Amino acid sequence: MNALPAHLHLFIDLNDGCNLKCSMCGPRANLRDQKVLPLELFKSRVAPIFARVADFQLGCACEPLMLPYLGEALGLMRQHMQPHLRGQIITNGTLLKEETARILLESGVLGKVRISIDGATAQTYEDIRKGARFAKVMDNVARLCELRTKGGHDVLVEFNYTVMRNNYAELPRLIHLASKLGVDSVTTHKLAPFDLRFIDEAFKRAVTASLDEAADMAKLLGVAFLSPDYRTESEFAAWERNACLAPRDGFRLDPEGFLTPQCHAAQKNGPVGNLLLQNVEEILSSGNFGHYRSCIDHPGLSQCDLCLHFGGA
Ligand code: SF4
Ligand code: SF4
Repeated sequence: MNALPAHLHLFIDLNDGCNLKCSMCGPRANLRDQKVLPLELFKSRVAPIFARVADFQLGCACEPLMLPYLGEALGLMRQHMQPHLRGQIITNGTLLKEETARILLESGVLGKVRISIDGATAQTYEDIRKGARFAKVMDNVARLCELRTKGGHDVLVEFNYTVMRNNYAELPRLIHLASKLGVDSVTTHKLAPFDLRFIDEAFKRAVTASLDEAADMAKLLGVAFLSPDYRTESEFAAWERNACLAPRDGFRLDPEGFLTPQCHAAQKNGPVGNLLLQNVEEILSSGNFGHYRSCIDHPGLSQCDLCLHFGGA
């Protein structure tokens, strides 16, 4: 058993491509000439740091099921990560064929599979998730849930929903769908950057009614449901923000080996290091890691005002 303290929270993209072109996504949409961190480098330079990883999400800004060595990567993470710890994967679900579903369920290192679904009807979903087919993704999710149940795998399945003006009304229907398919939970999040700080009164009323109905439905059907608070401009101004809600020691790992802090203030100094060029001890004692720690330990309006992680009670 590894005695190193596990404290890193990693958001990992080992490849930077995606097979879709979603309406709300940025420049990565439909990127086909993806960069991929080579397997040999993942094995020798990156996998060993999983001894220090407390949790991770595979897939941050890209589609992880396009990674050519997905099974091997999960196996290597399991080999190094402490046995009681688990991470998660987030995917658009379009490439979740049976063989891939089995790889995820049997990896032993994933506690949750998250699938991004931004609509409960084919029309809404396909208008947003351009290039995806609703019926096919639903079939993929149903098969994943069935394999999970039949195999007795201790892996949760979750829908991840970006709330937008053209899809918020379908949330209660999505809860029904989740329950029918065997999906355990639905989480919603705000559309960035537009709705992160505040929304207008009319949208707040409409979105809150839909979220409340979804929450009631979820309670009735036994689906876990999580949604953020929405604020109008005046509510946002009155909100006393004084806490950093980012995971401490939270970093994005990209396909070129860079570790970039989740802290927006610390990001101004660039990555804390590069796993292909430095060992983890060097990175943890670097000036940029010290700067990151100092930012995250001192949240305040002057550095955090525009940060999505800045909040309060
Ligand atoms: S699936 Fe995710 S990464 Fe791909 S285009 Fe859609 S939002 Fe962007
Ligand atoms: S900018 Fe502030 S709130 Fe945001 S992650 Fe850094 S310390 Fe936390």
